[in-house]
Amino acid sequence: MNQLAPEPKDIGFNKFYETLQKKRIEIKAVLLDQHIISGLGNIYVDETLFLARIHPTRLANTISLDETKKIIESAIQVLDKATKLGGTTIRSYTSSLGVHGRFQNELNIHMRKDLPCPICQTKIIKMKVKGRGTYVCPSCQD
Ligand SMILES: [Zn+2]
Repeated sequence: MNQLAPEPKDIGFNKFYETLQKKRIEIKAVLLDQHIISGLGNIYVDETLFLARIHPTRLANTISLDETKKIIESAIQVLDKATKLGGTTIRSYTSSLGVHGRFQNELNIHMRKDLPCPICQTKIIKMKVKGRGTYVCPSCQD
């Protein structure tokens, strides 16, 4: 029973949507839970939710099926990019310390407090979700 949860590319929209419907906790907390979905560390979750335009404190059971698809597709995109730029597997990227220069330079939101959002130029804010430093565009993400 020590099986790893599926990675974003393997998880399946409908099944993940059903899981979300049962969780009355923040979507970021669900995405960080390696028993539910594998491979998404703190940075990846921030980048994924930014691309999907979902606020990290939204309760998982309020996420629609379309939004679930956007989240999964964004996560796959973020992980692909990280793998390409880092030239290594995603497993070594679970902490912020594990991110190498090239990927770090391409982050849209993480570690960019007070800088302009790349889409709408609103100042990016930093908050805590589940005790983790979390970066959000208050205008793009809701
Ligand atoms: Zn924005």
